[in-house]
Amino acid sequence: MIDHRKLGRELGIFHSDPRSGAGLPIWLPAGAAARHAVEEYLRELERRNGYQHVYSPPLGRRELFELSGHLGYFADDMFPPMRVSDDDELMLRPALCPHHSLVYLARGRSYRELPLRIAELGGMYRSERSGVLGGLSRVRAIQLNDAHIFCALSDVGAEVAAVLRLVDVAHAALGVRVSGLRLALRGPGEKYVGSDASWELAESLLRAALADRSYVEVPGEAAFYGPKIDIQVEDAAGREWTLSTVQLDFDKPARFDLSYVDDRGSRGRPVMVHRSLVGSMERLFGYLIEAHEGAFPAWYAPLQLRVLPVSAESSGAAAAFGAAALDAGLRADVVAESGSLGARIREAAGLRVPYVAVIGEREAAAGEVALRVRGGRELPPMPVAEALRLIGGVVGARSHELVP
Ligand SMILES: [Zn+2]
Repeated sequence: MIDHRKLGRELGIFHSDPRSGAGLPIWLPAGAAARHAVEEYLRELERRNGYQHVYSPPLGRRELFELSGHLGYFADDMFPPMRVSDDDELMLRPALCPHHSLVYLARGRSYRELPLRIAELGGMYRSERSGVLGGLSRVRAIQLNDAHIFCALSDVGAEVAAVLRLVDVAHAALGVRVSGLRLALRGPGEKYVGSDASWELAESLLRAALADRSYVEVPGEAAFYGPKIDIQVEDAAGREWTLSTVQLDFDKPARFDLSYVDDRGSRGRPVMVHRSLVGSMERLFGYLIEAHEGAFPAWYAPLQLRVLPVSAESSGAAAAFGAAALDAGLRADVVAESGSLGARIREAAGLRVPYVAVIGEREAAAGEVALRVRGGRELPPMPVAEALRLIGGVVGARSHELVP
C-alpha cells in the first residue's frame, strides 16, 4: 500500500528528524519546488477571484487570543505562552483569523468594500499530542491556505457558493478526488459561543449553499464559533481527512467589534466566513503524494524535465538543451556520464519525472531531442524548440495529460 511517509522520503519531498521534533517536518528541495508551484497557482486563482493577500506574524500577544476567544475555547490545542516580560506574553497562533480581524480594523470600512476577502498562506501552530502525529497528515507547524471573507449577512449565500465553486476548480487542477461533504453542526455537551438564533441562521445559510450537492450532517463537529462545511478526502489506507472547509462566524466580528458604514450612513456588523480551498500545504501534499503515487501533474512536478546525453559526444548539446529549458521557466536538470543510459532512465522513472530527453550523437547533430514520457511512451525525435513548446504547453495549461 502507498504510504506518503515512505514515498515522500524516496522522492526527496520532506524529512523528519527527532532533533527537529515530532510533527515538524522539513520540506526538502523537491517538496519545496512542488509546493512553490502550488502556492503560486493558489495565489493567482485567489487574486483572479477578488481576494487580497496579506502577511501577518505567526505569533501574537496573549491578549489577542483572549479577545478572539481562542484561549477560552481552544487553549488545549495551543502551545503555552512565552513570557517576554512581566506584563507581556506571546503565543503561537492556532489560527489566522485574529490577525485578519486586525487587518479589517486597520481602517474604517464602508459597505462599498464588502465583501472584503483577505487571504494568506500563513503559519499557525497546534499542540497536537505526539501520538497522533504522522508524516504530513497531522503536524504541529501548519501552513494554511486560508482566507477570511467579511461580508454583509445578505451576501453570505453567494460567497459560500462561490467558495465551493473555487474549491472545485482548485481540486480539478491539483487532481484531488473528494470522498464526501459534511455539514458540521453543534452537538450536545460541547462548548460553543453565540446565540441559538445566530447558530440556526448560520446552519440554514450553509444548508442552502449545499442545496444541489450531496452531503451528510454531522452534529458535534462544528467549530466553537459556528457551523462549517468540511470537504473530505480519503488517503490510501482509507482514512478520511478534511482538506477544504467553509465556516460561518458571527462571533469574531462581535468580539473584535468589526463594523462598516452602510448605504444609509449607519453602522453594520459584517459576518466572517473562514475558508480554505485546499487546506494546509502539509495535509494537501500528504494526500497528493498518495493520490498520484508521486507522479504529480507536470505543472507541479518537482523536476519537470531531465536531460540525458547518451555519451560524452552529445553532452554539449544536452547541457545547451537543459539551459534552454531553465530559461523557458521549466524545472530541469542534466545528468551525464553517471552510469549507463538505461540506469539513468530508470532513476528518472523512479523519481516520477514527467519528461526525459535523450540526446545521442544523431539528435545532437540534427538539433533534436527524443522525449520519453513518464509511463514509458517514447516520442519520435523533434527539434528542441518544439520539445520545449510541447512541455511548456502542458505545464501552462496545467494539463494532467503529458502529451497533448
Ligand atoms: Zn479563520
